[in-house]
Amino acid sequence: MTTGRCLCGAVVVEAGTLASEITGCFCALCARAGGGIQMSIEADPAALHVTGPVKTHRSSRLAERAWCDSCGSPVWFRYVEGPDKGYLELSPGLFDGAAGATLTQIVYADRAPRGFSLAGLKTQSQAEYDASHENLNTGGGAASSEGARP
Ligand SMILES: [Zn+2]
Ligand SMILES: [Zn+2]
Repeated sequence: MTTGRCLCGAVVVEAGTLASEITGCFCALCARAGGGIQMSIEADPAALHVTGPVKTHRSSRLAERAWCDSCGSPVWFRYVEGPDKGYLELSPGLFDGAAGATLTQIVYADRAPRGFSLAGLKTQSQAEYDASHENLNTGGGAASSEGARP
């Protein structure tokens, strides 16, 4: 069990096994929601226990994002519809030292702001990501023309 918290401490997250790798996303939705980039660690939804004033926003047909309603810290990204329903990612910043995880992958890498180093990271461009996740951008999901995964 790994325990994390938001900036103000009102939201406390207890997570089961966390992935050892962090993914960063520069899609239009993550850029806005995360202040430029949204980083995430995959987590077991069955082992998640959260207390505190969490609010959620249905950011697309398929997914929701959650944050602390007191301080605004991002808490989770979760698929709530579609083939990946239940898939959960937590914000690495909730955990001291990102719970020991390593940033390894950037998606929508071609949308990264100038100056962001992609050296040593596995990258996927918007076109590559969309092509390999066709289901995410069909049927009223996030508009891929805006450069957004759900
Ligand atoms: Zn907070
Ligand atoms: Zn994204």
